[in-house]
Amino acid sequence: MIRPLLMTSMAALLLACSAPSAEGVAEAEGASESAEDVKSLVPDLPTDRIKAGSFEDVLREYRQMNDRLDRVSAPIRLSNAALCTETFRDPGFQAHSLEDYPERMRGVAQALLGLEPNAIYVRSVRRGSPAEKADIQPGDRILRLNGRAVPGGPTMTRFYSALSRGAFAGRETRLTLRTPDGQEYETILQSQTACDYPTRVIFSQEINGHTDGQEVYITSELMRGVPDDVNLALITAHEMAHAIAGHMNQAPTKALELEADRMALVLMERAGYDIDAAITYWADAAHPHRRLQDDSDSHPTIVERYENFRQEQARIRDLKRADKALKFN
Ligand SMILES: [Zn+2]
Repeated sequence: MIRPLLMTSMAALLLACSAPSAEGVAEAEGASESAEDVKSLVPDLPTDRIKAGSFEDVLREYRQMNDRLDRVSAPIRLSNAALCTETFRDPGFQAHSLEDYPERMRGVAQALLGLEPNAIYVRSVRRGSPAEKADIQPGDRILRLNGRAVPGGPTMTRFYSALSRGAFAGRETRLTLRTPDGQEYETILQSQTACDYPTRVIFSQEINGHTDGQEVYITSELMRGVPDDVNLALITAHEMAHAIAGHMNQAPTKALELEADRMALVLMERAGYDIDAAITYWADAAHPHRRLQDDSDSHPTIVERYENFRQEQARIRDLKRADKALKFN
């Protein structure tokens, strides 16, 4: 399931979305697609926030943000496999390698994260996941999957991706790992079927969420601006909905945005999130970014989104009362 966890650039924002935040709504319309604005997935130094040399703080924040996003999005991915067009078997940990980091950061990554070249390591372990139950720890090096050695070298990440996909597809996977202090251990892990839309934080001053149809990206500025997990879940579910419905292949319209909002509520409800709490946010008419949204041709207004949320909320409530299966409208 590994994908390169850090990428130096993104080709394009195929679909820019608006999203709620603590201060207001992201003004994503017209988000530039230039490499200048689509910031690296890894923090750039120096920035106005970060003193040069404090890579450690940046890396720590980056990891915390990714762990939070993973924790918030996991229930959505795990509860909606039946509705997702792409699924995979999720072991509950994420992996990375030194080579995932830009060259200029590798020295720091090696020192801070204990990564040696040409090796795959556990980056994070989700709470309550099969990996946690198997007592896998971040920083452990992955040596073998079902007895097959994880190779090193330039094609390592791709090879590991294919190998892990096969290995975790089964009912049980046998992993051999090595702790940072050199202890080798073997563990059996049962993966779970989940929607195959990994979520990832990218470092950017823009407040934005988007998807390329394969992954969901949330900017660091948006992560900082959304203190409550329910609204972060809504943003993530909205982007996932675009990916599930294949909206990236179409020109952005109000109708597609509203459809993604409705789908997001279904994804959230099935994942056990409090959709009433999420919708309440949109009731605030004195929205700070309201005017920007209202000027947009391809994005619905706050009022339109709120009304749309309310209608879908009612539909979901009726289905629940009638004890019917919750599907997209
Ligand atoms: Zn959208």
